[in-house]
Amino acid sequence: MTATSPAITLNNDVEIPALGFGVFLTPPEETASAVETAIGDGYRLIDTAAAYLNEHQVGEGIRRAGIVRSELFVTTKLWVADYGYDKARRAFDTSLRKLGLDFLDLYMLHWPVPSDFDDTVAAWKAAETLLGEGRVRAIGVCNFTTAHLEQLLAQTEIVPAVNQVELHPFLTQTGLQENNRRLGIVTQAWSPIGGVYGRNPDAAPDSARSPMDHPVVTGIAAHHDKTPAQVLLRWHLQQGRSAIPKSVHAERIAENFDVFDFSLDDDELKAIDGLDTGRRAGSDPETFNASSFPITIDEA
Ligand code: NDP
Repeated sequence: MTATSPAITLNNDVEIPALGFGVFLTPPEETASAVETAIGDGYRLIDTAAAYLNEHQVGEGIRRAGIVRSELFVTTKLWVADYGYDKARRAFDTSLRKLGLDFLDLYMLHWPVPSDFDDTVAAWKAAETLLGEGRVRAIGVCNFTTAHLEQLLAQTEIVPAVNQVELHPFLTQTGLQENNRRLGIVTQAWSPIGGVYGRNPDAAPDSARSPMDHPVVTGIAAHHDKTPAQVLLRWHLQQGRSAIPKSVHAERIAENFDVFDFSLDDDELKAIDGLDTGRRAGSDPETFNASSFPITIDEA
């Protein structure tokens, strides 16, 4: 029998699968098959973004999987170059068309742009309108700090349902998680197994190249006869977070979903918490803007 992920109830009562599938840096030519494989293994949450330039292929993978639309939870993200009210609404239409869907489950602002927060706010207001029109079931943000959330909430109506942030054992963001919880926002971990260290190896602490290599994690994995990736995904799920690991390899896609037959005890969870360095390996939300990643997103 295919396993299913537990669900987390968002602040508007929509349910999101806790464990999902990410496709950042999945090459377009490998995306449809990765998504089809993931859905076949039981994943029901697919996380893409306009800026990943693979929305067409995510849609193709969904169609190939032949799954009933209502069983799937599809997220995409608005890129920062499309912030502002009108641009955001157009970009939403483009994403939906590329995905071949007639509604989205979750639409997110991809980064805050602190140097031009008015446009970030205008983009959020567009997302609020899309939610009101029923074109998306929930709206959220990515990479918002507590201060960015406060700034947003002071000027808008709807509290984000999800804040998707860099979160793995080397960056646990406990303060941000607590603030999200207080506001009723689900924390969703990007780079949940530490993929960001593959892109930025210099950011890793001396003791390990990635959280998956750290002896604390490999030791716990050996104890449970599970892999480091599986241990890290349990760590997220047991602490109430959503996580969206990415892989292009069928065996890893299956491995990362095979996490529902064991659990970590409190000491193991605390030992992993203890690996926090407080340092990001990804971009800094305080300084992010459209030139941080100059991406051209075509309309076709
Ligand atoms: P992950 O933590 O998911 O790690 C992915 C990396 O780990 C890839 O290199 C993958 O390689 C490898 N990997 C996957 N499974 C295993 C395994 N079982 N054992 C060993 N290695 C494995 O990192 P990501 O940065 O991709 O984050 C996940 C998702 O989060 C993204 O795909 C995207 O959807 C989202 N994201 C969002 C961001 C945002 O700003 N909102 C920023 C970054 C990511 P391979 O593919 O070769 O198997």
